[in-house]
Amino acid sequence: MSKKALITGVTGQDGAYLSKLLLEKGYKVYGLLARRSSDTQWRLRYLGIGNDVDLMEGDLTDLSSLTRLLAAISTDEVYNLGAQSFVATSWMQPILTGMTTGIGAVNLLEAIRLTDPAIRFYQASSSEMFGKVQEPVQSERTPFYPRSPYGVAKLYAHWMTVNYRESFKTFACSGILFNHESPLRGIEFVTRKISDGVARIKLGLQRELRLGNLEAKRDWGYAADYVEAMWMMLQQKTADDYVVATGRCTSVREFCRLAFSHVGLDYEKYVVTDKKFERPAEVDVLIGNPAKAKSVLGWKPKTSLEELVAMMVDADLARVASETQLASSISAR
Ligand code: NDP
Ligand code: GDP
Repeated sequence: MSKKALITGVTGQDGAYLSKLLLEKGYKVYGLLARRSSDTQWRLRYLGIGNDVDLMEGDLTDLSSLTRLLAAISTDEVYNLGAQSFVATSWMQPILTGMTTGIGAVNLLEAIRLTDPAIRFYQASSSEMFGKVQEPVQSERTPFYPRSPYGVAKLYAHWMTVNYRESFKTFACSGILFNHESPLRGIEFVTRKISDGVARIKLGLQRELRLGNLEAKRDWGYAADYVEAMWMMLQQKTADDYVVATGRCTSVREFCRLAFSHVGLDYEKYVVTDKKFERPAEVDVLIGNPAKAKSVLGWKPKTSLEELVAMMVDADLARVASETQLASSISAR
C-alpha cells in the first residue's frame, strides 16, 4: 500500500516541490488549502502536478479543521510548511504571524495527538531562529537569538516540536533550513525580486531595481534539493533535528552581481538602495553547518549558487517575455 502524506503550505514554494517529490515516490498526497481569493495553485501547475494533489480545505489557525481533516484521511506523515513566512511582514502583522507560524504548528501537533499519535511530523523551522548569530557557523547546537516576530514565532514552534517529541513520544522532526530559493520563490523575497528585476531590465520594461541592505549575507540553496532532506528526516528510525544548508555564504550585493552578469549587465548601473526596504532589526549574516544532515541522512546540496542564479534569471526572462507577448497580443485585438 502506498504511503500517505499531508502537506500544509502546499501552495507555497516548498509545498510544490515536496508534493512533486512525494508523488514521484508513489505517495498519495493531500494538501491543506487555506481559503484565499486569488489563484494560489500556479506553482503546482508549473511543476505539472496541478491535478495530482488532493486539496482539502482547512486553516492552521483552526484546530477543528485540522483534527477533522486528519481523522478523515488517516495519513502516515504530516509536513508543516504553512506559515506567514515573510520576515518583513512579520513586523506589520506580528499577531497573525504568531497565530499562523507559531500556534499553527501546535494546532497541528495537537490534532496529531488527538487523532493518531503514530503520525510522523515535520516542522519547517528556520535559520532566522539564529538571528543575531551566537557562533560564526550555525549548527544544531548553536544557541538561538531571533531578530523578528517571524523568527520568534518559528522558535516557539521549534521548541514545541521538541517538547512533543520528549513529552508524548511524537515522531516529530524540526528541519532548521537555511534560505532556499527557486523560480517558484515568492516575489517579495530578495533573490526572486532580483531575478525578476534583471529580467524586466533586460527586456526594457524597467530601468532600476530598488533594494534594501546589500551587505546582508545568506547561505542560499535550491529548494528542490532541500525538500529531499525533509522527506529523509521522516524515514529515520528516530526523530531528530537537522540543519540543512550549503555552508557557503554570499551577500545580496554578490547575488546581484551574479544575476545581472548572467544577462551581460553591470548591476552597479541599475541597483539603487532604498531605506524603505531596510528592516527594524537585521539578520546580518547566516551560514549553516550541514554536517549532521550529511552524516546521518546522507543528504547534500546538489545545485551550486551559480546554477541557481542562472535557473532563476532564465525562468523570469521566459515568464516576463511571455506575459508581455500575451499583453501585447490582447491589446492588438
Ligand atoms: P511560502 O511563503 O512560499 O508558503 C507558505 C505557505 O503557507 C503558502 O502555501 C500559504 O498559503 C500557507 N499558509 C499561510 N497561512 C496559512 C494558514 N493560516 N493556514 C494554512 N496555510 C497557510 O513559503 P516556502 O515554501 O518558502 O517555505 C515553506 C516553509 O518553510 C515556511 O514555513 C517557511 O517559513 C519555512 N522556511 C522557508 C525557508 C526558505 O528559504 N524558503 C527557510 C526556512 C524556513 P497561501 O498560498 O494560500 O498564502
Ligand atoms: P529572509 O532571510 O527570510 O529575510 O529572506 P529575504 O529574501 O526576505 O531577505 C534576505 C536578506 O536580503 C535580508 O537581510 C534583507 O534585509 C535583505 N534585502 C535587501 N534588500 C531587500 C529587498 O528589497 N527585499 C527583501 N525581501 N530583502 C532584502
